[in-house]
Amino acid sequence: MLEVNDLCAWYDESQALHGMEFNVGEGEVVSLLGRNGAGKSTTMKSIMGLVKKKTGRIRFCGKELLGLRSDLIAKSGLALCPEERAIFSTLTVSENLHLPPKLFAGGLSVDEVEDMFPNLKSRSQAGGGRLSGGEQQMLAIGRILRTGARFLMLDEPTEGLAPVIVQQIGEIIRTLRTKGYTILLVEQNFRFATTVCDRHYFVEHGKIIDMISNAALQANAQKVHRYLGV
Ligand code: ATP
Repeated sequence: MLEVNDLCAWYDESQALHGMEFNVGEGEVVSLLGRNGAGKSTTMKSIMGLVKKKTGRIRFCGKELLGLRSDLIAKSGLALCPEERAIFSTLTVSENLHLPPKLFAGGLSVDEVEDMFPNLKSRSQAGGGRLSGGEQQMLAIGRILRTGARFLMLDEPTEGLAPVIVQQIGEIIRTLRTKGYTILLVEQNFRFATTVCDRHYFVEHGKIIDMISNAALQANAQKVHRYLGV
């Protein structure tokens, strides 16, 4: 579904990606793992057209995305849930959910999102800024489901969340997987990634240095330790 080849990206003169190569098949949940500053978020932002200076190829369902405006990329069927969550803090939960346009058949209604996230239903009139970190994350995920995008990029969805909420986010990702969504996940929480992903790409200095399937992690424990220090 997504094929990234020789992707390089720069912030001004500073090169952050140095030839990223990876792919994600339809229905897979795939992670990008790596130490701080490795280039994971930059990869997602580049796919979404949010990093201007880049070269290489980003093919989504056979269509080249490199150079397209981010609004047109969104209309191709990808959605990004950013690390900072970026919900509107002065709007209510309900207002946040009503904002995204339904771009594709299959986009969830506000009621369907609230059914999927009961915490959001009970806080529907609360201001976005008054939500807990976990509720904000659920709102950020719920919001991208409104559009009908089938390829979701989740940037550190468990960051700063209590273990019980991390478990809930895990259940949400597994539910989305069974509903046929394709997910690219950036995670610092390696243990969490092993509970939801089919495959893991390891990123170092803006490049993929290895790919290990979830089933083969144990057999490659030494490598994983070397790559991540875990
Ligand atoms: P983290 O887990 O810490 O977010 P990451 O793997 O997602 O790490 P990136 O955020 O993609 O890493 O950063 C890759 C490199 O690009 C780092 O050297 C970082 O300092 C740099 N960088 C990231 N964002 C910017 C920016 N807006 N301007 C300049 N440099 C940036």
